[in-house]
Amino acid sequence: MLDRVADPEIAVLSLWDLGVLQDVQLASDEELRISPAWTTDWISADGREALRVYGIAPPADDVVCPLCEWSESQLISEFGSIACKALHRCGHCGETFDYFKRL
Ligand SMILES: [Zn+2]
Repeated sequence: MLDRVADPEIAVLSLWDLGVLQDVQLASDEELRISPAWTTDWISADGREALRVYGIAPPADDVVCPLCEWSESQLISEFGSIACKALHRCGHCGETFDYFKRL
């Protein structure tokens, strides 16, 4: 059931893909773990692939164009359509693409 709960801003990612959910247990009392803080390092391999197929470069040390997989790009804007994305232009195919910033 939780696989169907999508990120409200990037619908191709589930909360599992994002790594927001780490473990689920039934408990009689309310338990909520709020630390450690979420990081983009927790995005699953499936989530990273879903981002790439959707046209968003997943967070990484090197920004790779999701269209042609070229690793040289130019930062056009520090912010994209949402604050967690930046806008880049590929140095090979010339297309612009979103980069999911590493947090
Ligand atoms: Zn490219």
